[in-house]
Amino acid sequence: MHRGRKVVFVSHCILNQNAKSIGRGKYPGAIRELIELFAEAGVGIVQLPCPQLDFNSGLDRKPKNKSSYDKKDYRGACKKLSSSLLKQVEGYLQKNYTVIGILGVESSPTCGVQQIANGSRSVPGKGIFIEELEIEMQKKNFQVPVIGINLNNMYSSMEKLQSLLKYT
Ligand code: SF4
Repeated sequence: MHRGRKVVFVSHCILNQNAKSIGRGKYPGAIRELIELFAEAGVGIVQLPCPQLDFNSGLDRKPKNKSSYDKKDYRGACKKLSSSLLKQVEGYLQKNYTVIGILGVESSPTCGVQQIANGSRSVPGKGIFIEELEIEMQKKNFQVPVIGINLNNMYSSMEKLQSLLKYT
């Protein structure tokens, strides 16, 4: 079988909602719609580590605001993760693969792209990992689309991804 030569990088909980903080998951396991979309388009899915799970409070953590996470060690871990992610992205690009994008998760204080949670509300803002990722991308002077998946509005998230797939 030939390689499709297209990949997408996804936040950990897109494939494993068990990693979400208590009460924040919307699916029992993986987000099926996204897996189906990418599988049908012949796109490989690369799962990123979950910063909150690995560097913060583990599986039994309660939801917290960005300010509770925004400490030197946690930001440093997100920065390290961003640079290792961009190395992987560069590796694919150098071999002429298409990197469809990097998928974050809206409302997360870590992986939110346009919105972060503030108590039970979502407010405009970026998560800590996404901020560090954008800084690293600027330093390296390259741009890959970063798209936030909104678990409360999968319809609009799917539409965004479909149009992205159409033009790649
Ligand atoms: S930190 Fe990111 S990957 Fe981990 S559960 Fe939150 S949104 Fe998902």
